[in-house]
Amino acid sequence: MPEKTGEYGWAWLGRERKGSVNQNSAQGKQSLLLITVDCLRADHCGWHGYARPTTPFLDSLASESFVVPQAIVAGAPTYYSIPAILASRMPLALGRGVIGVAPGESTLASVLRESGYATGAFCAGNPYISPRFGYDQGFDVFRDFLDFDAQATQNTVSPETPLGPSARGKLNHAIKRVAGGVGLSRLYNELYFQYCMKIAPPVHSVDALRRFPAADILVDEAQSWLASVGERPFFLWLHLMDPHSPYYPPKEAFRELTGRDIEPGRARYLNEYWKRWDLTPSGFRGKRDEVIELYDAGIRSVDRQIARMVQSLRHAHLWDDCVVAFTADHGEEFLDHGGRYHAPVRLTEEIVRVPLLIRVPCSEGTGVKVPPSPMSHLHLAPTLLDIVGVRAPSAFQGRSLWTNLQRGKVWDDPADVSALSPAIGPAIIECGYDCRNPFRAEDRNVPRLLAVRDARFKLVMRIEPGATEEVYDLEADPAEMHPGVAGPALEARKRLLQAAREHMKRTVAGRDAVMVLRARLRDLRCEILG
Ligand SMILES: [Zn+2]
Repeated sequence: MPEKTGEYGWAWLGRERKGSVNQNSAQGKQSLLLITVDCLRADHCGWHGYARPTTPFLDSLASESFVVPQAIVAGAPTYYSIPAILASRMPLALGRGVIGVAPGESTLASVLRESGYATGAFCAGNPYISPRFGYDQGFDVFRDFLDFDAQATQNTVSPETPLGPSARGKLNHAIKRVAGGVGLSRLYNELYFQYCMKIAPPVHSVDALRRFPAADILVDEAQSWLASVGERPFFLWLHLMDPHSPYYPPKEAFRELTGRDIEPGRARYLNEYWKRWDLTPSGFRGKRDEVIELYDAGIRSVDRQIARMVQSLRHAHLWDDCVVAFTADHGEEFLDHGGRYHAPVRLTEEIVRVPLLIRVPCSEGTGVKVPPSPMSHLHLAPTLLDIVGVRAPSAFQGRSLWTNLQRGKVWDDPADVSALSPAIGPAIIECGYDCRNPFRAEDRNVPRLLAVRDARFKLVMRIEPGATEEVYDLEADPAEMHPGVAGPALEARKRLLQAAREHMKRTVAGRDAVMVLRARLRDLRCEILG
């Protein structure tokens, strides 16, 4: 029986295995399945209280997992988030010019491979998760699906797609100029958008519109790879893109979620409308719920395919020795603060708060209430290594919270004299402000956008001359609408500003010049080779 201890509930005592070690883990080590979902915000998951049935299978997995209530990314979007997940390193620790993991940098994959694990990654066509940015390092097999046949571009017509140098195109440009001259740009844009939708070729299936491979394709490939692994423990990383825009979920997932069939033409209309550049937030509101329904169906698709993945692990007798971490690289905006998608221009909760489940065989996870302290992704890789009994490299910036998780003990209270090891500070989140195309080295050199978040307060600031900061009390103002520095926020501002200063100091002092040089040489090689 578990023993009750600590202010947050039940201790878990049963680390020893039930029965013998699985024969497929020849070295007695547990395997590790890491699932990252692109754009999945925490508040759209069932176990966080979302009303729509997006995650029935994952809800059941959550019931036997450690559920981290406040998992926070270290950066957003993808290219600022993944370094912390895989390499336990802040995204800008090597300077703003370095994107991805540096050549030779230790990652979960490289550490586990050195420990005898078979390592495989299947990432659904995100161009920032590719060998170009070093993510294949440490993997025996790395599939980025960047060769996925994107028929989507052939089926897309929008105001962003000019009609071309035809007579019709020239006429259009002339009308646009005249409309702009007499203050009728809005009317012109609306008519032009509707016209483009009207002349778009008919579409009979959402499959033809999808830009990224759906999760079923990745699960198929992962299953084939697992069948070839043999007796070794494995580290399998799946990065799934089903909830990523454009939102074209598989029809089965849409039907399961809504009880209706998806209409491909309507789905295309909504996606094209949602990406318009000529409207203010109020112009999008009328379509918001329908767009969210498509996004949610993408989450349901992920849920279905993870269920299938787990089923196959069970059949192969691998499930009882498999640790699972389920999380997201960042969230998604649906006009919460006026924005759409996930550009690095704000670090609001819909972007930085993600789901995090850690399932450890035999631990049952149930009964252990994970503290409400924010847990940065920075600590995920060392925690996972600790769980499977592999030493984390000293270069990792995070530390294992495994003992805290098991005992339900906070990790961010410096006054807690019973702390198991020195308290970690608040979660830091950073990105290059408005850097939307990190393929271009010159686009990376933008001011740093920084957030410092503890259990209640969040400070957000741009690091540039004359910049001011905003402080939010997430308890009194969870929607982050009213920055303020009165009352308790005043003290929090001081504390969080100090944490920001210390973070910047650590960043400059700890920069690994060799890693920076290697990453820059890689960029140079890519530029020369095109
Ligand atoms: Zn992403």
